[in-house]
Amino acid sequence: MNKVILIRYNEIYLKGGNKKYFTKLLFNNIKHALKEFNCTVENIQTRLLVRNFEDEDEIINAIRCVFGVHSISKAVELDNDVDTISSYVRDIKINSTFKCDVNRADKSFPIKSNDFAADLGEMVLNANPNARVDIHNPDCIIHVDIRENGKTYVFYDITYAYSGLPLGENRDGLLLLSGGIDSPVAGFCMAKRGLRQDFLHFDSFPYTSPQAKQKVIDLAHTIKKFVGARYMYVCSMTKLQEEFHVNCRTDYAINLLRRSMIRVANILCEKYKYKTIVTGESLGQVASQTIESLTTTNAVAKYPVMRPLISFNKEEIITIAKDINTYETSILPYEDCCTVFLPRDPVIKPKIRDAEREEKKINLDELIAFVIDNIEVIDLDA
Ligand code: ATP
Ligand code: MG
Repeated sequence: MNKVILIRYNEIYLKGGNKKYFTKLLFNNIKHALKEFNCTVENIQTRLLVRNFEDEDEIINAIRCVFGVHSISKAVELDNDVDTISSYVRDIKINSTFKCDVNRADKSFPIKSNDFAADLGEMVLNANPNARVDIHNPDCIIHVDIRENGKTYVFYDITYAYSGLPLGENRDGLLLLSGGIDSPVAGFCMAKRGLRQDFLHFDSFPYTSPQAKQKVIDLAHTIKKFVGARYMYVCSMTKLQEEFHVNCRTDYAINLLRRSMIRVANILCEKYKYKTIVTGESLGQVASQTIESLTTTNAVAKYPVMRPLISFNKEEIITIAKDINTYETSILPYEDCCTVFLPRDPVIKPKIRDAEREEKKINLDELIAFVIDNIEVIDLDA
């Protein structure tokens, strides 16, 4: 009898001809998530198994962060043999209400699921005078999963993970990561659909502090395990923002900054082969996130801009931020480059034409080139 950790996945089932590809991705991502642990991972058709481990709770926590995983259980592995399973289940000590739940994937197993569940339930009742069956709301469910590999897995607890799709092999997304609450959550949401991402952060040193930058680096490290990031690019917008401030309409300051952020992102996408830009914008959250503002920003984007939080309320975003452990860091009170030179009367319905007219007042190409030349690349694995 072996102790194992049983991993179930769900959406991959729907992938038809691509199922093999997605299962392989998931398998590799789980192996990567467990690289610090002493254990082995095995693919047994529609389930994955971890064997030869010690720190089972830590391992389960690490697996929970891998997208594509539906749920995880500590289980014992038995042979698909009526007597073996029966004698194991008969010895389980139960002092509460319970039920047996049998899943017979191995159709050559001689007893049908419901019949075997009833047989096992009776054995448990006979062996435990305080046990009672409750089909609808039991304190304990004895799960018996009879698989096609000739093995049966018996378990009680199920830890649910995030489901979704496994992260792809390539880092296709570039997440605009600020120190706020929203953008780490946006990265998490896109990663849940399989988008592996790196990070791009803008600061305005010395108007923003080194602590503000460190906070974003900390956030990057916190969400790295979810989004599969390797690099964080840090760009200084100081010179650009000063030029906007002195020469351009102040009510357009945020729009002009956002358009510049996207221009920088365009160049990095081209250079490092990212296919899409991700932001934490949410419709109507602030003046810079009205449809007109987003349209003005989109007008300079050369790659699709994904905004997974577009329909989220702040409370919904905060709930996720707390769950993924970014909230406490995000609310540390350091300045962001967007809050530096913040106009008192930001335009709510900016026009592309006006933004372009403002940009002509400075040497934008040169200033963007300066930002790119002075980029700092942080290797998050170092
Ligand atoms: P968050 O930055 O997390 O959204 P916020 O709501 O305070 O918090 P916004 O002003 O709403 O920030 O910014 C909208 C989006 O623009 C962010 O989600 C992020 O994707 C991008 N962004 C803003 N500031 C920066 C920055 N300094 N560096 C990189 N991206 C930024
Ligand atoms: Mg926001």
